[in-house]
Amino acid sequence: MGRFTFYGSPSVFQIWKGECGYIFPIFMFVKISPFKQIGLGLMHLFYPRLCEGCNKPLVAGEELLCVGCAVELPETNYHNISDNESALRFAGRIPFQYATTLAYFTNDGLLQHLLHGLKYKGKQEIGYYLGRRLGLGLRETDWIASVDLIIPVPLHITKQNSRGFNQSKLIADGIASVTNQPVSEGMLTRVRNTETQTHKTRTERVNNMQDAFTITAPGTLTNKHILLCDDVLTTGATLEACALALLAAEGVKISIATIGIAV
Ligand SMILES: [Zn+2]
Repeated sequence: MGRFTFYGSPSVFQIWKGECGYIFPIFMFVKISPFKQIGLGLMHLFYPRLCEGCNKPLVAGEELLCVGCAVELPETNYHNISDNESALRFAGRIPFQYATTLAYFTNDGLLQHLLHGLKYKGKQEIGYYLGRRLGLGLRETDWIASVDLIIPVPLHITKQNSRGFNQSKLIADGIASVTNQPVSEGMLTRVRNTETQTHKTRTERVNNMQDAFTITAPGTLTNKHILLCDDVLTTGATLEACALALLAAEGVKISIATIGIAV
């Protein structure tokens, strides 16, 4: 899938973060040719883009979420906190450098709604948008520059074929669009189609995930700092299994970034 074009400003989020101040309307017109601008305007007149949060029509400069919903996403700001809850979930289980999460995932919350649209309604642009927002936080850290490549948690080929895409790959692409590291899809593969994890305890999940992943070319990962990314962190069993597979390569360092953390 090609990357989605974010017309105009880098994101509404950045505007609210004060990075663009009030110049974004000018930026929009500079970045998009007049003909494209007119074409988009006409298209949106007949087919208005709707906010994925509240279903209201989006206005110029808004992407995917209206400004109200964009600021409503319950961000964790974990990228500014080294001993955050995401890091604590992996502490003592695997050697890792950093762990962070974009937002809190709660039942019936905005993030659950968005991720449901991504995974079960095929709204792939949501994955890219959320990855981009995660990337904007990562870009503020002093460690992201040391990351060599971003690896999304892979789906088993059977599941990927039935869904048509891997949501974690879209998230990785969104992160990479901000942080500029390469995304690698083929180096970590899922060799076992594990049963559903939903009703398992943490121990059962870890046992269920053992040996579910493998690396294809260990030599190419030697001494690399890898950013593993996924949609939601619950017990961390899946990410732990991925990290253990990657750590089989010599000198590998792992950091972890997820869109949501179940609380
Ligand atoms: Zn909205």
